[in-house]
Amino acid sequence: MTDDLLSKITVNDNNKLAFANGSISRTQDEKEQIIQNAAAAYEKYMDALGFDWRSDPNSADTPRRVAKAFVNDLAAGCYNDPPNITTFDNVDQYDGLVFQGNIKTNSFCSHHHLPFIGQTHVAYIPGKDGQVIGLSKLNRIVEWYA
Ligand SMILES: [Zn+2]
Repeated sequence: MTDDLLSKITVNDNNKLAFANGSISRTQDEKEQIIQNAAAAYEKYMDALGFDWRSDPNSADTPRRVAKAFVNDLAAGCYNDPPNITTFDNVDQYDGLVFQGNIKTNSFCSHHHLPFIGQTHVAYIPGKDGQVIGLSKLNRIVEWYA
């Protein structure tokens, strides 16, 4: 794991890893409980909006689908451990651009909680006496932060 990632991780009062954005790694049982709580809250939200969603067979399970989408996909990085990132000595003293592009990215905006799908591009220039990171690790970092 990079020093930068480590610097963003703390331990909360429950002795679980917490991250700079308030994320906490959760067990599968905890995630299921969060999904159930969020689904129940989303039912009330849809009621408050005046939707007759219970009468629409297409919407009957929408609260649970929405909750699962946030926990398992859109906000997955908020509930999962950070990726295990290893770096390597730059033995070839490569100092050119390292680029990983078109990383599929799913997340949601923090202002409206509306989902977005896009691509992320990451590039860096390693120091000749520094460390390099595997390209696949860049994908995992992006997925976790998204
Ligand atoms: Zn927005």
